[in-house]
Amino acid sequence: MDLDTWRALPAAQQPDWPDRGELDKVVAELGGLPPLVFAGECDQLKEQLAAVARGEAFVLQGGDCAETFSGATADNVRQKLKTLLQMAIVLTYAGRVPVVKIGRVAGQFAKPRSKGTETRGGVELPAYRGDMVNGFDFTPEARRPDPWRLLKAYHSSAVTLNLARAFTKGGYADLRQVHAWNQDFVGESPAGRRYEQLAREIDQALAFMRACGADPEEFHTVEFYSSHEALILDYDQALTRIDSRTGLPYDVSAHMVWIGERTRQLDGAHVEFFSKIRNPIGVKLGPTTTPEEALALIDKLNPGNEAGRLTFITRMGASKIREHLPALVKEVTATGARVAWICDPMHGNTFEAPSGHKTRRVDDVLDEVAGFFEVHRSLGTHPGGIHIEFTGDDVTECVGGGHEIGETDLATRYETACDPRLNRSQSLDLAFRVAELYRG
Ligand code: PEP
Ligand code: MN
Repeated sequence: MDLDTWRALPAAQQPDWPDRGELDKVVAELGGLPPLVFAGECDQLKEQLAAVARGEAFVLQGGDCAETFSGATADNVRQKLKTLLQMAIVLTYAGRVPVVKIGRVAGQFAKPRSKGTETRGGVELPAYRGDMVNGFDFTPEARRPDPWRLLKAYHSSAVTLNLARAFTKGGYADLRQVHAWNQDFVGESPAGRRYEQLAREIDQALAFMRACGADPEEFHTVEFYSSHEALILDYDQALTRIDSRTGLPYDVSAHMVWIGERTRQLDGAHVEFFSKIRNPIGVKLGPTTTPEEALALIDKLNPGNEAGRLTFITRMGASKIREHLPALVKEVTATGARVAWICDPMHGNTFEAPSGHKTRRVDDVLDEVAGFFEVHRSLGTHPGGIHIEFTGDDVTECVGGGHEIGETDLATRYETACDPRLNRSQSLDLAFRVAELYRG
């Protein structure tokens, strides 16, 4: 299998590495390092996503817009997982379907940018492209792309994934414990009080099972998967290995990888590279996507019509989803294509506050998810999941939500390295609201 065919095609959003020789050294070193995930695990996730495509499961995918090397700490990863697991329980109960848990973690270190440079106070420097490429500080040294950062991204991913595996397999993810955290949220926060009824029902279900003596293994550990936007193709190719079981190539830097809105050109390098790997993959679809483009992506990326292989992650914006999504879903469904549909209610809803902070309104996020459910319900298709940017900390990056963060509060705790994330309480609020939508 020739994995180099993408090199002959235009590759959008690649860094301008100052020294190709250094890049080659890094790529050679990455090529000799152990896989971060196993091909068999990727297949397992693909099976679960096949259930999503059939309407039998729901995806919860989320994490930072951009992970940072300094953010790979035990506290940080634990808080994020805790929030994700809390959301997942609420969705599992409300939807009565398995929730496939996928982090935007352990590899989400590269960012596409709409502008190649950033200007501050009359000084123009290369834009920050994620810790995998350059530094966040606004200095010429930091902003210079450094290929050795790819290696650091690998090690940082390994550390994060190790923590995630330990937390999800080592007892921390116990269902009753996670439910108890949700009860704290419901009891303590103004946003949570609306959900007393739902939390009580979950409590009763757990009490019933306890009384029956049911204590299955599934209550104590969870399956958790990693994902990132595979943007820097030299990195993802260097971590692609031939699976000894099947002889097929898998990108073993993450279980699932996706193509972003800015790199999904049909004749571009990213689509070509993704057509060669066997992982479950996603493609972001923005409001300008035509049904023809979506169908051509299916032809190229999933010619065998394998369920679970391809997920479309729509990110239309709250004001556009009801208008743009129906034609896509209708035409794709009419061809018999097996895809999973999930909703990214973040990236179509970004705006700049008067303070200059990039932000999003929680109400817009909720409205896009509501629109996503409405469209799928009216077409008889399955609203297969949500893809969000969130953190387990009490940051002030998105406005609205239970604690009513206003535009003037954004500076209080604005810590993202890229896009604004839902904080812990906004994320839990979202989970309960999606649960309400699920119940109809
Ligand atoms: C992202 O997921 O952070 C991102 C850049 O999304 P999109 O490609 O949809 O703009
Ligand atoms: Mn983002």
